[in-house]
Amino acid sequence: MAMVSDRMQWIESEERIQFSWKWPTLPRWRTLSELQQLENRLSLAKCTGKNVDEWVWKPCGSGNYTTKSLIELLNSSVESHAEPTIRNNLISQKVCIILWRASQNKLPVRSELDSRGMDLDSVRCPVCNDDIESINHSFILCKTASDIWDKIFKWWNLNSTVFADIYELTKGSNSQINTATGASIWQAIVWVTSYYIWKNRNDHVFNKTRLCNAKIVSDIQLKFFEWISSRLKKGV
Ligand SMILES: [Zn+2]
Repeated sequence: MAMVSDRMQWIESEERIQFSWKWPTLPRWRTLSELQQLENRLSLAKCTGKNVDEWVWKPCGSGNYTTKSLIELLNSSVESHAEPTIRNNLISQKVCIILWRASQNKLPVRSELDSRGMDLDSVRCPVCNDDIESINHSFILCKTASDIWDKIFKWWNLNSTVFADIYELTKGSNSQINTATGASIWQAIVWVTSYYIWKNRNDHVFNKTRLCNAKIVSDIQLKFFEWISSRLKKGV
């Protein structure tokens, strides 16, 4: 395994470090900017090339890693950087988390992975292969998602509308519904549907499963009634 010092050469006459990386795949996007930051930091140090590289865990004064210091670091990071989470008490928390991650652009759709420098065979939607896979495409514009939404609107006797973007979808509001209870139930339906659209996408990627849209909608209906009835029994 190469060490960082193997890739650095001190140019005496110019008083600067020259880097010679040997990448199997060239870094780009965020990885490239992180590399440039690393080079800037290293350029402040004079490397003799005689010392052995070692890992230092900065959160601990000793430089040695401890689980306790990691937990303290994570707790402080969660408290200071956490975005407000979203919640609908009628449905499972795992659904709420997927919706929250979608609204924060934190789901691993291919356009996001590509923009982070990950090498992919394709950035196209794994479900339809018609367009680049983005959050909006996966949840709203994909022809499978769009057909499922049409069926869900029909199930609730609502005029079918297309969500403008993931933020409108996450709000889950509908001008055709006038009561607070109705709005909460409709939002739960929108979120459960989104969860199943994402699950179907993952089945395409990881399990190569192909369910027909009518089966997906019937799974959504069953799961929705199951969650709603268990919540009502608990008196939520
Ligand atoms: Zn698609």
